[in-house]
Amino acid sequence: MNNFSNQDEKELEKLGAFEISRKMLALAQKNEQSNIFLNAGRGNPNWIQTISRLAFARLVQFGVYDSKQTIDNGIMAGYMPTEGIRERLFAFLDPDKNEEDQFLVDAVNYCHDTLKLDRDDVVAEWVNGVIGNDYPVPDRCLKNTQVIINHYLQGLSYEGVDLENETQLFPTEGATAAIVYAFHSLSENHLLNKGDKIAINTPIFTPYLRIPELNDYDLVEVDLHSYEKNNWEINPKEIEKLADPSVKAFIVVNPTNPTSKEFDETALTAIKQATTKNPDLMIISDEVYGAFVPHFKSIYSVVPYNTMLVYSYSKLYGCTGWRLGVIGLNDENVFDHNISKLDAADKAELNKRYGSNVLDPAKMKFIDRLVADSRSIGLYHTAGLSTPQQIMESLFSLRHMLTTTNGGTSDPYIEIARKLVDKRYQDLHKAMGAPEDNTDTNTHYYSLIDVYRLAEKTYGKEFRDYLADDFQQVDFLLRLAEKNGVVLVDGVGFGAKPGELRVSQANLPTNDYAVIGKQVLDVLKDYYKEFEDKNSKK
Ligand SMILES: *Cc1c(COP(=O)(O)O)cnc(C)c1O
Repeated sequence: MNNFSNQDEKELEKLGAFEISRKMLALAQKNEQSNIFLNAGRGNPNWIQTISRLAFARLVQFGVYDSKQTIDNGIMAGYMPTEGIRERLFAFLDPDKNEEDQFLVDAVNYCHDTLKLDRDDVVAEWVNGVIGNDYPVPDRCLKNTQVIINHYLQGLSYEGVDLENETQLFPTEGATAAIVYAFHSLSENHLLNKGDKIAINTPIFTPYLRIPELNDYDLVEVDLHSYEKNNWEINPKEIEKLADPSVKAFIVVNPTNPTSKEFDETALTAIKQATTKNPDLMIISDEVYGAFVPHFKSIYSVVPYNTMLVYSYSKLYGCTGWRLGVIGLNDENVFDHNISKLDAADKAELNKRYGSNVLDPAKMKFIDRLVADSRSIGLYHTAGLSTPQQIMESLFSLRHMLTTTNGGTSDPYIEIARKLVDKRYQDLHKAMGAPEDNTDTNTHYYSLIDVYRLAEKTYGKEFRDYLADDFQQVDFLLRLAEKNGVVLVDGVGFGAKPGELRVSQANLPTNDYAVIGKQVLDVLKDYYKEFEDKNSKK
């Protein structure tokens, strides 16, 4: 047994999955077998995309140097003159020597040739942006940045449905802020009220289970569940629940976390059908893992009117510390429509709320309300994602756009990222002798390991039943941490079944995944010994 009583374990189970995992880290670090400490609990990638970062650094160097033209007082400089800035940047860069300099030249030209943007204007936005000597203007999204990110999302996830020219963007401090802002504004605008029904696809990233339950929101959840026996694919029957008009919103992660599955064509069609029966359905679609499946098709591309897109650069580019996310809404969308249908009292209240922000608050779009609410209305004039962050989003986007024509499949960086998590997935599953899902709709970013199934496969049904009956949910994880130094996350916190554990294929050196597989089997073996001892005493 581990050193926790059943009571302790019950207490632990009340905590969120990530909080439990934090406790286990401490155990794992001084594990009894002095194994190396392996934390496969975090979804944080252990890789970074390099060239866009180097390009960012070059823009900072150039910008500082160029700023000395107007004020040059030791370590104080002024604003840079924008006239002729593209020419001066190109003269500063050395494309023969630095790959990132060549990238910047190509990127500026791409903005001009393909996106029809003005070269000087683009360079001025980037250099001023990375220097960061002005508030973000326009506050919601910088002008060229919006065109660039829109084109990026178009290629990455809309699969040929042309939406880039009808989508408004609000870059945010990661998808995290996007989620917080979305719930807050939906509630402030009476689009979601206490007691309203919202649907959630489970298992899901824990915050989506926690936020709606909080007192501020107090929403009633409708579960659209998927199961391992179907390879975690969602059954269209589950999606039919969305057709009920009492379901106000659908909060969806696609591809999923922790089950790592993309909604396939059948599921997407079912969503479209449900919206014909429930046309005012508001969908918030978190698509941060989109690039990890080939030919990803966003829910936004299927039902753009109903969907708020949430995207993050964090996972693909290894930039969680940067906080780079974005919200996208179609010019024509259900959120604006639902605001227009509010009763007179609610409208009057909202006109007052936003009356200090705009002259005609009744016409204020939901996406602009998100921006104003993100700074508590009063600080709207200093709203918006920091300009250096917005330029970093542009530079990650452009690198992808320069290496693909369309569709996102021929970006070597993305190919490498997919191969990396896939290799770790294969190693883990082979070491455990667990069944693999090698279909294209699996991102391989996380695995959800069914310990009971593994127990049955390795030692038989009776042992499985013993394991499922006799132990607290977190016991297995605690042993794994305490004895073997391996930290995984409990799947129950994600809405998975008891006995399902999440392994992240993002966070550890590739060689460790076979080790983790072996350690999981070792812990099972321990349990099996206890099981045999008990049986022999009977
Ligand atoms: C990691 C993750 C996020 C957080 O994204 P950030 O941009 O880093 O805030 C959001 N949603 C899901 C499903 C995630 O896995």
